[in-house]
Amino acid sequence: MKLNERGLLVVLSGPSGVGKGTVRRALFQMPHHDLVYSVSMTTRPPRPGEVDGVDYYFVDKETFLRRIQEGKFLEWAEFVGNYYGTPKDKVEEQLDNGKEVVLEIEVEGALQVRKQMKDAVFIFLVPPGKKALYERLKNRGTDAPEVIDKRMKKAESEFLLAHKYDYIVVNDEVNNAADRIMAIIRAEHAKTERTIHNYIKMLGEK
Ligand code: 5GP
Repeated sequence: MKLNERGLLVVLSGPSGVGKGTVRRALFQMPHHDLVYSVSMTTRPPRPGEVDGVDYYFVDKETFLRRIQEGKFLEWAEFVGNYYGTPKDKVEEQLDNGKEVVLEIEVEGALQVRKQMKDAVFIFLVPPGKKALYERLKNRGTDAPEVIDKRMKKAESEFLLAHKYDYIVVNDEVNNAADRIMAIIRAEHAKTERTIHNYIKMLGEK
């Protein structure tokens, strides 16, 4: 008997600069998992070191808007002047293959996913403090001061929606945060409502 045939959709959000990318990379380095990352599409220009098709699919605004019209996104949002979206087909395909698909997206998009994917798990990553967030954005050195200010303002409005998530994880230390997320994923898998139908099926087996 095969349990949990369809994979779990894991939605990770949190204010810009909280370290979602770093925590996600630490999570993917942990042993014994079936996680895959959903690469988003964006109109934001690549930062130094970012690779097309790995970090994002970098496209122009016209291409992005056409994809919206064609219904190609599971969700999309505008964030600080750029568009970001999750390609739908890929996510469905990976879930059907039993993979745990990780989306690293902002709050507005996450709430769109919430409406469509009832059994996804929603995790909100928070910094140990507001100052830590500002320092991280500044030290990243990739955004202009006015963009940092916009991202800080956006962070405040994002915090107000944290209660819509299933879990809140503090990124006090990257590996601790990744451990907590992995613990959540494992616990979600064992949830009665996810597995009970398999055992009912098992009862009917000869
Ligand atoms: P950044 O420009 O820092 O890479 O991303 C800005 C914000 O957009 C982050 O909060 C990031 O998680 C979010 N983001 C990245 N990809 C997507 C996506 O496909 N959809 C949505 N809604 N947000 C995304």
